[in-house]
Amino acid sequence: MMTDSDMTKTAKTKTSVKQFLGPEPMTGSEGTRGTHWLRREEGDRIWLVLDRQGVSTNTFNEEVFSELDALLDDVEKGHWRTVIFRSAKASGFAAGADLSQFRGVDAGPQLDRRIAEANDVIDRVAALKARTVAVVHGTCVGGGLELALACDRIVARDDTRLGFPEVLVGLHPGLGGTARLTHRIQPIEAMTLMLTGKTVSARKAFKLGIVDAVVPERNVAKAVDEAARGRIERRGAGFGADALNLRPARLAAGRRMRAEADKRAPHEHYPAPYALIELWERHGGSQAEMLEAERRSFAALLPLTATQNLVRAFFLRERLKTNGKGKNEVAHVHVIGAGTMGAEIGAWCALKGMHVTIEDPMTASLSKAVAGAHKLFARKLDGPERLRANDRFVPDVHGAGLRHADLVIEAAPEKTDLKRGIYERIEGAVGEEVIIATNTSSLDLNALSKGLKHPERFVGIHFFNPVSKLDLVEVVRHDGVAEDAFARALRFVGAIGKLPLPVKAAPGFLVNRALMPYLGEALLMIEEGEQPERIDAAAERFGMPVGPVELADQVGLDICLAVAESLAEGLDRPMPEIPEGLRIKVDRGELGRKTGTGLYAWDENGKALKNPVREEPDAAMADRLILPMIDAVAAALDEGVVEDDESADAAMVYGTGFAPFRGGPIEYARSRGFADVASTLEKQARLHGPHHAPSAWWRKT
Ligand code: NAD
Repeated sequence: MMTDSDMTKTAKTKTSVKQFLGPEPMTGSEGTRGTHWLRREEGDRIWLVLDRQGVSTNTFNEEVFSELDALLDDVEKGHWRTVIFRSAKASGFAAGADLSQFRGVDAGPQLDRRIAEANDVIDRVAALKARTVAVVHGTCVGGGLELALACDRIVARDDTRLGFPEVLVGLHPGLGGTARLTHRIQPIEAMTLMLTGKTVSARKAFKLGIVDAVVPERNVAKAVDEAARGRIERRGAGFGADALNLRPARLAAGRRMRAEADKRAPHEHYPAPYALIELWERHGGSQAEMLEAERRSFAALLPLTATQNLVRAFFLRERLKTNGKGKNEVAHVHVIGAGTMGAEIGAWCALKGMHVTIEDPMTASLSKAVAGAHKLFARKLDGPERLRANDRFVPDVHGAGLRHADLVIEAAPEKTDLKRGIYERIEGAVGEEVIIATNTSSLDLNALSKGLKHPERFVGIHFFNPVSKLDLVEVVRHDGVAEDAFARALRFVGAIGKLPLPVKAAPGFLVNRALMPYLGEALLMIEEGEQPERIDAAAERFGMPVGPVELADQVGLDICLAVAESLAEGLDRPMPEIPEGLRIKVDRGELGRKTGTGLYAWDENGKALKNPVREEPDAAMADRLILPMIDAVAAALDEGVVEDDESADAAMVYGTGFAPFRGGPIEYARSRGFADVASTLEKQARLHGPHHAPSAWWRKT
């Protein structure tokens, strides 16, 4: 598999491996550096150290495998007693396959060959006569874990996280991981790990039997020595676990797993979990048979549209992340308004290491904010980390923190005059370089910026509710913003681990503008006498995570009404009429989940009490709900609210949960055909009103 020129590269550069292997000094000969691998001899041991060129995290591609393949020629010929695999990257062992090579693949012999070649390399590692030891640290997931599982022993540094996240991109492990994990540990635990895509800590992995030793870096060399001398036992599956790989046990467990998977995601939208269950059910009795079958199953999944769209969604996320790359200059955030949003925003910033002061005229709001923040820290952090986060979150009755802030986020009630008054006070207390941000959902940023002495450092930083769950943050530019302040705001959002989307000030920005037609249409349908549960089912069958009726109740009917009114007023395009029923509910204080009643009744655990769907929804119902939402995205693109269709798709997937296996609204429209989308909207406009008329964007693209 390796070309001559690759060989030359492997032999070319001599280097000391010491610097690549963490703090433990190494003895022995100099190493030899290839393009992506280092090899180093040490008595009867040989180290193969992965250091993929040009990236900070190791991932596998064909080049990495073919270089390893050539190294294995050498290893097989030599008389090594132990082969040790390690990574030279600080970030971890390896994050798995380089997903870019999975894009746009077609089914057929070429794909089968590529999968077989990669698997052959891993199988060669598994078949080595020498004792093999994987020393893993940091990220050890996907293909990284599969390489480790092909080794006799796995020594994990105590900071390692291990797992198989393939299911999240529509796949299952494809380098022997399904077969090796189900035969290394208790198979139900193995299947659960693969079906959920979750990662586990080194300690948990030790308990499960995935890794055989857990050590701090200072003890790695000693552990490797022990493993090389055969003094570390394989942890293994535990007594009786093998019985669970027998056919009757597999069939019984498989049925339960399928029922569980069905609850979470239907087969036609997310085929991977079902393919994995079937693979184990049919072939789990024999590791060799499962290894063979895994290749075929993986090759069948990869070209599916759903998988390709999930891989696309992964790259859309990466794209949003790059908007926030660069050095963050914000260390102290002052939040004004400790209500629903301010409290959560402040807590999230403190969780991510910012010093936070938070003010509110209501001390009750502040106490609630502190309790909420402590709860979040308790959920996400341990021991001293948690105490430090508690210390970083400071209620500030008199606004004393304002003077120390690098960024002020205003999350006060949605009233222009009140907000302007707040900005005047802020400007009196802070230097010119401090960014002033608003979290407004519906007010016009150009109007809000009018009274400011320095409107150039004023931006919108629009978080979504609940802040801890929704990763997207719209960073809003108005006409007078300075590029530098805007860029600093984007980097701040990146630094707190959120996904920043630059948008232009316009009613509803992107996400609310797109969601409102979806929610509005659902309310009209209720007004027409449609069963709310059936409306939700139509959207959920399409692949939305929550139906529009339930979502309206979650957001709050008062907020829906306010945003709908501001959009109706601010946009030139017709919007769905605001139904009288909505106003009545708001007047009565039946606002949705937060008051216990809205369009649904809600139980004390925050769950909507729904009746069974009386009649299965049809495709026309889904079109009526979904196409106006997609059209609003198109209109926003037409008006330059959002830069391009990839950004729009990314925002809708990560801001609203828009069916990721459809690749986002514009990708879905593309796969359906823009002309078909536009003509269906025209038909809907004749049936349901002018707010369905397609935007001009469809014709221009
Ligand atoms: P909220 O009513 O829950 O909280 C507002 C808080 O501001 C209250 O605690 C109130 O005591 C405090 N307050 C009132 N006057 C103040 C003043 N002069 N100075 C400082 N604080 C004052 O409101 P919310 O839902 O958190 O909304 C806040 C902002 O966030 C709004 O601009 C809203 O559009 C936006 N937003 C809300 C959501 C949401 O889902 N609730 C989502 C995104 C953005």
